Amino acid sequence: MAEEPKEHQGSSQGFQNPVAGFGVTFKAMFKKRLTEQYPEAKKTTAPRFHGRHQLNRHPDGLEKCIGCELCAWACPADAIYVEGADNTEEERYSPGERYGRVYQINYARCILCGLCIEACPTRALTMTNEFELADSSRESLIYTKDQLLAGLQEGMVDSPHSIFDGMDEGDYYRGAVTAAAPGTVRQVAVSKGEKRDEEPVTVENTAAAVSSGAPHEATTMDRGATT
Ligand code: SF4
Ligand code: SF4
Repeated sequence: MAEEPKEHQGSSQGFQNPVAGFGVTFKAMFKKRLTEQYPEAKKTTAPRFHGRHQLNRHPDGLEKCIGCELCAWACPADAIYVEGADNTEEERYSPGERYGRVYQINYARCILCGLCIEACPTRALTMTNEFELADSSRESLIYTKDQLLAGLQEGMVDSPHSIFDGMDEGDYYRGAVTAAAPGTVRQVAVSKGEKRDEEPVTVENTAAAVSSGAPHEATTMDRGATT
C-alpha cells in the first residue's frame, strides 16, 4: 500500500495538537483550585523546612555558639560573618573558652541550603520554619546576632552570666545542666557598651518594666523562643 504523503501527515497532526492541548485545559477546569491565600492564610511548612537561622542557647541561657567560624567557612554563598572572642569570668556568654561576639547572616546572599547547619559542631546553629525574609533594603537583610539569638525559655537567664556552679563545658553537652542555677543573675555586658553602674537586664526587671507600662528597649527576652 502506498504511504500517505508527508504533507498530509503534517496537516492531520496540525489539527490534533491543539485539540490535545485544549483537552489538558478542559481537564484542569474541573480540578480543585490550588490558589494560596497568602499572606492572609499562611501555609504550614514541612517540619524540616529550611527557614531563617537561629542561634540556640543551653538550658540555662548561655549561648551554644563558640565563635569557631566553621559555619562561615562551609557557606558556599559567603553569607555568614563571625567574630569570636574570649569569655571572662566577669562576662561569660558560653560555657567554654570562646563565644561568638559578632554573628551576621546576609539573607541577600543566603540560598538556605543548610550546609552551615551541618558544619556547626555544637548545634548552636539551626534553621526555623520562618520564611518571610523579604525586605526592601540590603541593610535590613543582614541579620545580626540579636535577631538570630533564640529567645529565653523557662529556667533561662539571659547571657552573659556565670557557668553553672560545679559544672564544666562537657557537662553542658552531656545534658547535665537543665536550667540556670538558683540565684543566677545576668552580668554587665561591658563589651557591648553597657556600664557597670547600670542595672543589668534580668528576667525580673524586664517583666517589672513591662507590667508597670514603662517603656523598655526590646531585648531577645521579648522575642518568642522557637528552639
Ligand atoms: S544556608 Fe547555605 S547559603 Fe545560607 S548561610 Fe547557611 S551555608 Fe550559607
Ligand atoms: S554557629 Fe556553630 S559553626 Fe558557626 S561559629 Fe558558632 S559554633 Fe561555630
